[in-house]
Formats: sequence, structure tokens, C-alpha cells
Amino acid sequence: MAISKKIESSLAGASWIRRMFEEGEKLRKLYGPDRVYDFTLGNPNVEPPAAFKEELKKLALEPVPGMHRYMSNAGYPETRRAVAEVLGEQTGLPFNENHIVMTCGAGGALNVVLKTLLDRGDEVIVLSPYFVEYKFYIDNHGGICREVPTTEEFKPDLDAIGRAITSRTKAIIINSPNNPTGVVYNNAPLAELGELLDNVKRKTGQAVYVISDEPYAKIVYDGITVPSVFNYIQDSIVVTSHSKDLALPGERIGYIAISPAIENPGLLMEGLIFCNRTLGFVNAPALMQRIVARLQRESVDISEYQEKRDILYNNLTAMGFQMVKPQGAFYLFPKSPLPDDVAFVMEAQKHNILLVPGSGFGTPGYFRISYCIDKQIILNSLPAFKELADRLGL
Ligand code: PLP
Repeated sequence: MAISKKIESSLAGASWIRRMFEEGEKLRKLYGPDRVYDFTLGNPNVEPPAAFKEELKKLALEPVPGMHRYMSNAGYPETRRAVAEVLGEQTGLPFNENHIVMTCGAGGALNVVLKTLLDRGDEVIVLSPYFVEYKFYIDNHGGICREVPTTEEFKPDLDAIGRAITSRTKAIIINSPNNPTGVVYNNAPLAELGELLDNVKRKTGQAVYVISDEPYAKIVYDGITVPSVFNYIQDSIVVTSHSKDLALPGERIGYIAISPAIENPGLLMEGLIFCNRTLGFVNAPALMQRIVARLQRESVDISEYQEKRDILYNNLTAMGFQMVKPQGAFYLFPKSPLPDDVAFVMEAQKHNILLVPGSGFGTPGYFRISYCIDKQIILNSLPAFKELADRLGL
């Protein structure tokens, strides 16, 4: 059976997350699910908010005629209006439905945006560590991925970004709260990035779009809020989904929002809508669009995630692991105690702890813990982490 050489080579370099998950399946059979501490997947283990079930029930009991038909490729106007209304309140900017396209999750949204923007050979800057699918998504549309490391604190390094911009740079993908670090960007780096890109435009006329990937925007701790790129960057496009904030990853519902300050927004929107259609998504799922239109102000219970972050951060740092304290998402990204992060992950596996090496996110020397799992599993894992720390002499 012949498949493309390119896909064959992608399969050979299978994702670390997938590899470790499969290891977990083997260990669970051997030791039982309670004795395997699987921190590999970013699959929310909480249920959607009660309001989601209410809306679902209402639609099942009182169906709207035609509710399963095709619609405009951008999505239902009332859903797009509901999204725009909340964005307008959050940013003070004049959003309306003509700035919004409903999509099949954030992954679908990213593909639609990249297809719309990129010509073959155009460059897209990603900040490492990064969500590994970005590389594949950029390649899907003929783009070239340029990795730029973040600072020690995992914030954007503006000098390094400035040096990486060439005449072929079309976009920069940022992701805050971040997967895999959990770091949230405050106002300063966004303002500085906005200034840098304004200068590029002034000098060369080249627009470099900031694609802000924000599926974790509502999953933040310690009372903070995530500043909006729309308030700092003119050529900004937000891609997001309800996979994490409403715990609906299997339902594939998200959206693209373009800044009201973007020049020629009509052409950009036409491109996005065309690509939503021709990538084969056609439109975002109809039932979910109707439901999330009423849930733009809802979210899962964030306090459960914060409690898990605190348990892990406090215990692991006391054991000698070193990490930046994350203020969002549901990940920790500690330094690998061994120089080789893959070797460290293999050592952890001997204690039934499953982790993903930083190499899987373009940043060797670290490892990722995903804590969207049962609290009891996290508590059960602590003695195993302690044994591991002691064995490695932390
Ligand atoms: N972007 C980031 C940073 C993610 O972590 C994920 C999923 O884990 C996605 C995008 C894709 O999300 P979706 O399920 O909405 O496609």
C-alpha cells in the first residue's frame, strides 16, 4: 500500500504524546488504572457546565425546523453576533458578525487562517516551546515554520522575533495561556509585539499577522484575566474553541475573530469563508453553533484545575523539581533533572509516571505534565514522584 512519502515520514516521527499514551495503555493493563499516573493528554476530564446540558435538552425537545441543514459557510449569523457581542464588551472594539467565522475547533480555525494567508514558501514564526501541530498545519498550506525560542520565563523574546522576520514572514502564532508551559502573556509583551510589527509595516509596507491561538483563555488562575491581542496589535486574528473552556473537544466547535482594525477586512473574511468551505469543513457543526451561542459567558469550574495546579506545583517544587509557576491552561513545564529529557521521561516511566519530553514541543531539557486528570490519580502519583526525585538525587 503506497501512501505519500511525506506522510510516511511524519508517521515515523510519531508524536511523543501519542507514543506515551500508548505506553500508558500497556501499563494500565499490567498495574491497573489507579496505579498508572498518566500526565500525557490534554483531554479535559471535567464535564461541560450545566447550562450546556440545558440547551442541548431544549433543542432536543423543541427542535427548530431546518436545524440540521447546511447554512452560510461562515456559520449562523445569530451565533456570530453572540460571539461578537462578548468580544466587543471585552475589548471595547466595534465587533460585529462580519468579523467572525465559526469553525471546527481551534485546529480547524488555524488551518483555515493559514490556508487563507499563505503562499508557498511564506514563513510563519512559532515561539518555542509550542503546540506541535502548528508545524503540520503550516506545512499543510505550503508554509515554512520558523521556530523562535521564548525567554527563560517562556515569554516572547522580542529581539529574537525581530531578527527572525524576513520579507517572506506572513504571520506569527502566539498562544497564551500556553500549551505546554501554562504561561500567560501580560500586556507588556503584546504591546511590544504590536509596536515591532507597526515598525515593520511602516518601514516596508509588509503586514505580519499575529494569529493568537486562545483555547485556554478562560482557564486562568489567581484572579488574572488574559489581555486581548485586539487591544495591542492591529493585524490580529484570534483562533479559539470551546474544547477546553466548555470541555467540548469532541464536538469540534470554535471560531475565528478578526480585528476590526484590520485593513481590507472584507477580502480577508471572504478568504476565510472560502477556505472553511474548500478545506472540506463546509461549516462548523450546526447543533453546537446553536448551543454555544447561548454559552459565551459560561465556563467549566476553573477552581478544580487551580487546585490540581497547586497540589502539583507545591509538592514537586518541594521535592526539588524546578519550574515556572503557570497561571493558566492545565500544564506544567518543569526543567528535566537529566540533561536528556527523553532519558528522564523513560526514568519516570519506571515509576509508572507518564510524561511528555520537552523535545516534543521543540524545547529539549524540559518535560510536560498535563493535569486535566482525576485529583485522586494526582495524589496517588506524589509518592512515585518522590521516589523518582530521590533516586535522581534532587
Ligand atoms: N491549540 C492549542 C494550544 C491546543 O492545546 C489545542 C488542543 O489541545 C488546540 C489548539 C486544538 O484545539 P481544538 O480541539 O479546538 O482543535
